[in-house]
Formats: sequence, C-alpha cells, structure tokens
Amino acid sequence: MEATEFKTQMPLNQGGLIHMSFFVGYCQDNGLKIDKNTLEELHKHKLVFPALKVYLGVVEFKRVYASFNGLNEWRYIHPKDLDKFKIIKLDRKNYYCIGSLGKLNDHWLDYYFDNNMVEWPSQQKSFAWKQRQFSDFYTSASAIKKQYEFLYDKKQILAIKIALPYLIWIKEHKNDIDRKKIIASIQKRIADLYKFLEIYHEMEKIHKLFEKKKREKYTQYREAYGHKPSKIEWGQEYDFDISPIFKERAKKILDKYKLTKEFIYDWREFISKKSLINESARSNKIKTAYIKSLNDNDIASLEDTHYMIYIINAFLYFLTEKEETVKQVLTGFINKTCPICKSNFKPRNKWQITCGSIACVKAHRNDLKRSKRKIAKIS
Ligand SMILES: [Zn+2]
Repeated sequence: MEATEFKTQMPLNQGGLIHMSFFVGYCQDNGLKIDKNTLEELHKHKLVFPALKVYLGVVEFKRVYASFNGLNEWRYIHPKDLDKFKIIKLDRKNYYCIGSLGKLNDHWLDYYFDNNMVEWPSQQKSFAWKQRQFSDFYTSASAIKKQYEFLYDKKQILAIKIALPYLIWIKEHKNDIDRKKIIASIQKRIADLYKFLEIYHEMEKIHKLFEKKKREKYTQYREAYGHKPSKIEWGQEYDFDISPIFKERAKKILDKYKLTKEFIYDWREFISKKSLINESARSNKIKTAYIKSLNDNDIASLEDTHYMIYIINAFLYFLTEKEETVKQVLTGFINKTCPICKSNFKPRNKWQITCGSIACVKAHRNDLKRSKRKIAKIS
C-alpha cells in the first residue's frame, strides 16, 4: 500500500457527518460546482478521502396477503410483526432490503462501529466507487450485503476548496515532473487543516461548556442577590469566576496539540477567505457596506464559515484577552486573486502573482515555462 506520509483522515465527529449526496448539495450551496464524480476523483488522487465508508446492512422482510385497513392485499412486513395481522396467505420466501442510515443524534454511528460495519477509506487503497442499488426487495441477502454509503463531514468542504482548484491541472499534467510534489503539498495543506479541525472540535466543546457555566452563574447571581445583575456587576462576576478557568483550559488544549496561536490565526484567515463575502468579486467598498448593516450575531448565524470564526474568536479571547468580532475578521479584506487556485489573498508586495502556496507557485512556474516553450516553437 502506497501510504501517504500525512494525516489524510478527517477527525471524527459523528454529529458533523452527512451522506455523500447531501454533502454534494451542501458544497453546491456553498459555491462549489461539484458532483459525485468530482468527489470520486478527489478520492482517486488521494487528495480528499470520504470520512467514512459505512455498510448499510440487510433487513429481512416477509411477504403476506392480509387485510390492511379493510383491504386485502400483498404487503412486505417485518417478521416481528407477523402476529399483528390476520394473515390469509404467507409467501414462504424471505425478502431482503438494504438498510438505511437515519441520522438521529450525535451517536448515530455507534451501532455501525459496534457491528464492524465501518471502514476508513483514508487507510485503504483508492478504489472505484460502486453504483448504489436502489430497488426495493431482493430474495437473496448476499446480493445486497456489500452495499455501502460514503459519509463526509461538512467541514471537509474546506479541504475540497483547497484541492479542487488543482484537480484539472493534475489531470492534465500526467507527465509533469512537479506533479507529485504538487499533490504532496496539497496533501500536506489538508493534513494541516485536519490538525486544525481537531483542535476546532475542542473549541466548540469548550464554548458549549462556557455558555453553560455562564447561564448557571447568572441564575446563581439572581438567587443570591434577588435581582438581575447589571452589565458592570455581571462583567465582574464573569471575570473573577468564569474566565480564569477557561483561560487555563484553552492554554492546555493548545499545549496538548503542540500548536501555536499563529497556527489558529492562519486558519481563521483561511476560513474567512472562504466565506460568501470574501469569495465574491465585489470591491471592498461594497463588501464593507454590506457587512456594516448587519449585527455580529446575525452574521455568525448566516453561514458555517462565520460560525466557525465566532467559535475561534471565543477561543482566542481566552488565550489573548483580545475581543474580536466576526465582522472584524471578515473585513480584513483581501485584494488579489491567485491565477491558479482562484482564491483571494493579501499580497506581501506588488510583484506577488500567486497566493504563495507551494502548489500554486510550482504550477504557475510550470505553466510559464510551457508558454515560453510554445512561444519559442512558433518564432
Ligand atoms: Zn493559489
């Protein structure tokens, strides 16, 4: 097995996982023109792997002729329900159906893990995707035993936004000497993203806990003093009692993952570039006017990238005591567009052409060489 040296597995968070077909829709809603085939190609080139492959299992049915609401007819029912009906005729054959994944809560996949029905595509060789079967009932269980569904985490849209701009280039430059290096640098970038998302999951947890503590404290205050705390009183309570615990916790998390604040700032900037406002080609003047008219809570709830910025800000506040709004982060506007990956970036000097990622610099240099060779041939 040709294992990549980077972390290619999206950190697991059951609550964030959705069926591949929903994920395609989610990506389309958020500005990516992709379909199922795009995801398969990203998988084939080992750029973005499905988070999980889940076998759907087989459900057994019986076919009976019975009275249903006063009407005699053939129907498929669960064997457990056989005595619930007055059965006129019973088909002796067994019938089978492909199980379905219904997302119920944040532990919806425990059953599949417990029954060994889960595989990790990132740990396997790439394989061609099987067409899903959709007909209803089969007379043999083995015919449908191997049916599976891919699950993606919604946040993998960020990985796709990293890899997708290079996909065409990679497909068209099969013999390019730099191709392997470009693929490796994209894999490295996505591995970094996954490292970030691992700590981001912790940020979400700590934020949830923080909100809970805040509410508890508020109730305590009201019970002790018999009135709602004023803003100043509340601020003091909060600074003395709640903040220190969370400051400590935030630092511990950072140490646990051996990461720096800068790492978090970098990814926050990346995420802000992937928001609707920063992916749009309008001028900064127009974007500012747009954002100005909204309040920060509204902005945070508008799209997932904004919500992520809100959570990251809350975490950074514990680390730095500097309060930042989602608005402020989003309006750190970016002025130039990279010709390779098409992302917006803040240039460090006026000669900078690409966004500066290794993959883009290399791809741009190769294209430049090629066009020079072409010109040489013509003249
Ligand atoms: Zn670029």
